[in-house]
Amino acid sequence: MKSKTEAIIISSMNLGEADKLVTFFSLDRGMLKGVARNARKSFRRFGAGLESFTISRLHLFEREHQELARIESTDIIEQHSSIGCDLDRSAVGAVMLELVREMAPLGERNAPAFLLLSHVLHLLDEGEDPLFLLRIFEIKFLSLLGYQPKLDHCLSCGIRPKGDIIFLGMKGGMLCPDCMVSSGEPQIRLSQGTVGFYYHVLRMDMDKVCRLKPSPAIMQELDLAFSAHTFHILGKQLKSTEFLKAVLPLGH
Ligand SMILES: [Zn+2]
Repeated sequence: MKSKTEAIIISSMNLGEADKLVTFFSLDRGMLKGVARNARKSFRRFGAGLESFTISRLHLFEREHQELARIESTDIIEQHSSIGCDLDRSAVGAVMLELVREMAPLGERNAPAFLLLSHVLHLLDEGEDPLFLLRIFEIKFLSLLGYQPKLDHCLSCGIRPKGDIIFLGMKGGMLCPDCMVSSGEPQIRLSQGTVGFYYHVLRMDMDKVCRLKPSPAIMQELDLAFSAHTFHILGKQLKSTEFLKAVLPLGH
């Protein structure tokens, strides 16, 4: 059966002598994988349409009960070529794509998540601050996948604290300082400024979010909180964050 879908290329790896195995996040069917036969030889048919960060229209051929689609050809919709030419942007972009690959379930449509990723990649390509975009993407993307941390009341006593809170990555929630019993683990404290910024980002659409100017302290607290949160969801650290820390140490 033939079909076509708009998709963001997540990764593309060599398979055998001439083929490519492509992972892509599609608008109408979520995360999928496909094989592009002869992709390494037939540049005319595929061009740059299978490169990471590119948004392409993929022409697919699928058989029932077959896990991998066959990618017959591609039309580029938006290329985002300046992401790959800049170290900071490509390091941040790699974390975003890994987050999508690890988190988004195969074959489940999530149009808002697709639109968010394509919007954020567009802004990254245009030169918006990479780490700012990463923090925004983490907050909105995890929420769209159902992993939104609840930071407005203490998990133990239910109050809404006025001062700092302690983030619990494992529970995706927080404790007020009165309920925190020291477990010897490093505590991630979040200020009310960070909590306020977080809820602003969740509520606002992307155009307005980009006008926000969070302080470096807010950015750093969110980084720690979302690294812990992602770690507890996946049971591992994202590989690409190591590279990001080497490239952009100030943000970490
Ligand atoms: Zn409490």
